[in-house]
Amino acid sequence: MNISNRVKTLTPSTTLAITAKAKALKEEGFDVIGLGAGEPDFNTPEYIIGAAKDAMDQGLTKYTAAGGILELKQAIRNKFLQDNQLEYGANEIIVTSGAKHALYTLFQVILNEADEVIVPSPYWVSYPEQVKLAGGKPVIVDALEENSFKLTPDQLEASINNKTKALIINSPSNPTGMMYNEKELRQLGEICLKHDLLIISDEIYEKLIYTDDQHISIAQLSPELKKQTIVINGVSKSHAMTGWRMGYAAGPEKIIKAMTNLASHSTSNPTSITQYAALAAYQGEVDPTIEMRKVFAERLNTLYDLLEEIPGVQCIKPKGAFYLFPNVTKAVKNNGFETVDEWVAALLEEEKVAVVPGSGFGSPNNIRLSYATSENQLIEAAHRIKQFVIKHQ
Ligand code: PLP
Repeated sequence: MNISNRVKTLTPSTTLAITAKAKALKEEGFDVIGLGAGEPDFNTPEYIIGAAKDAMDQGLTKYTAAGGILELKQAIRNKFLQDNQLEYGANEIIVTSGAKHALYTLFQVILNEADEVIVPSPYWVSYPEQVKLAGGKPVIVDALEENSFKLTPDQLEASINNKTKALIINSPSNPTGMMYNEKELRQLGEICLKHDLLIISDEIYEKLIYTDDQHISIAQLSPELKKQTIVINGVSKSHAMTGWRMGYAAGPEKIIKAMTNLASHSTSNPTSITQYAALAAYQGEVDPTIEMRKVFAERLNTLYDLLEEIPGVQCIKPKGAFYLFPNVTKAVKNNGFETVDEWVAALLEEEKVAVVPGSGFGSPNNIRLSYATSENQLIEAAHRIKQFVIKHQ
């Protein structure tokens, strides 16, 4: 039996490959430190878990509306108003099984065969694959390290042709932790308006910012930009709810309606009890992100300072998310390796530290280190990386 051509083109996830190897070593009894995690290491707050239990006890375990329960959409509307000064109607919001599935569904409804989507690199691994799955063509544009990994207006302009349908913006970014400021967003937005491009704004790390920079949604910059933008967000990262699978998209009614129609034939609806848990998350009086942010900020500083001491490792300090994305080309070369991928494999083999090679994010000179693990583990990991680099010099 043959697998479909569509699925055969999928690139296997490098993150998962490294995680699997690390897990295998752990099972053999090795003391492995995993810096590959893409999720907060905190538990989902008790009041959210309690709300899910209550929902179960109350029998709220049946199918719901395909696009999500109205109370939750209302809570999401309030969140947009409060955090982003954006006003959406309930018919401009769809609740999905994670932000990932919001993006998947979105590409399915906006792309025709060979439509192009501009994906600035470094990118989150699923963007190009999801575009391909929808029959589209991801156009990877290298956002350079000297521009803090941010797409410039000239680069955007030069990548547009009559097949271009959309641009993806992910700020704060996975894997770089970089953020676009208002001026940069306005410049990119103007070009998108000029060429009638949709803007897909993935804001899943909105709440995890460690500087004085304010998160800005490109949709809030003008009514024209709002009409052209689909905002993606969710509770996975903000409320430590990765396993619950809840995300959402907000944007023009026509697109949201098409997504809801597609969802009705694919997932039917996001898990009912998850929706009640998410409702509690957004209605809760305490914002659990405040505490998480404090801890993440401390860890970021610790790991950043330790990386600075490692010869041949250069890192721009991230502003948000929970990753560091250092350039390790000098270390790789000094250590006698051909590629970052080989260096990463040897680091895992010899020092039992799992990091993700940047190649999976379209950036083969870098590695991604997640600091969603304890401070002690981070200190030990940095120590082992330094030891590895010095040993091979
Ligand atoms: N967008 C980015 C940039 C991410 O890093 C992730 C998760 O890693 C997602 C979207 C998907 O989040 P969710 O768990 O809500 O599907």
